[in-house]
Amino acid sequence: MVPAIPYLLDRYEHFNALIFKGKLPSVPIVLSRARTFLGKCEYKGRINAQGQEEFFDFIIRISVAYDMSEDQLDDVLIHEMIHCCIAVNQLRDTSPHGKIFRQLMATINERFGRHITISNNQPVAKAPVQRKRWHVVAVVQMTNGKTGIKVLPRITNRITDYYNGVMSSPLAKSVKFYMSNDPFFNRYPNSGALKIYHVDPDDLAAHLHGSHDVLCDPDGNNVRVSPTVNK
Ligand SMILES: [Zn+2]
Repeated sequence: MVPAIPYLLDRYEHFNALIFKGKLPSVPIVLSRARTFLGKCEYKGRINAQGQEEFFDFIIRISVAYDMSEDQLDDVLIHEMIHCCIAVNQLRDTSPHGKIFRQLMATINERFGRHITISNNQPVAKAPVQRKRWHVVAVVQMTNGKTGIKVLPRITNRITDYYNGVMSSPLAKSVKFYMSNDPFFNRYPNSGALKIYHVDPDDLAAHLHGSHDVLCDPDGNNVRVSPTVNK
């Protein structure tokens, strides 16, 4: 939906009462065509007579460059309201989306069933629902201690060719194959190319929950999928 300002001001008042106990000031909201952010909260700062930093002239900018659903728009607005809340109360956060921001965000998400994230300055992915597709994921342990992956087509000889090709390289120590439908793997090119993409091993382990081992004979000729689900 393309939001209109009266609508956004209305939502602001609604969430101010519902979430922030009506303690946020009235803030002008302006629409922006920017593609570099979804929402933005700007304000000025000064040192008052008591020597304390205080913030004023708040303004919230909402991008209309992306087609957001009502729910996404609400989440973006509340994200900016959290920034506003932190500044108004002169809380000192560790960074723009630091400890305090994340704590408030987590509490609001839980109490109000929201899905606010810290990434209002990043454009939303066009496809909000990620399709579940099954991939064959090769996990390569490298001789330099790093971990790499390659997403392969679900074709037996592509898997065995990859195995044989990678194992003939001095960089590869071992290759294991998994069948996974975790959307994490959607972003990697799916081909038989002898490439290896570095990944964080902890990250990878989390995304291999629910996968199945793909078992490959030592001679690399026979491939079958284990019925056991990896925990
Ligand atoms: Zn932010």
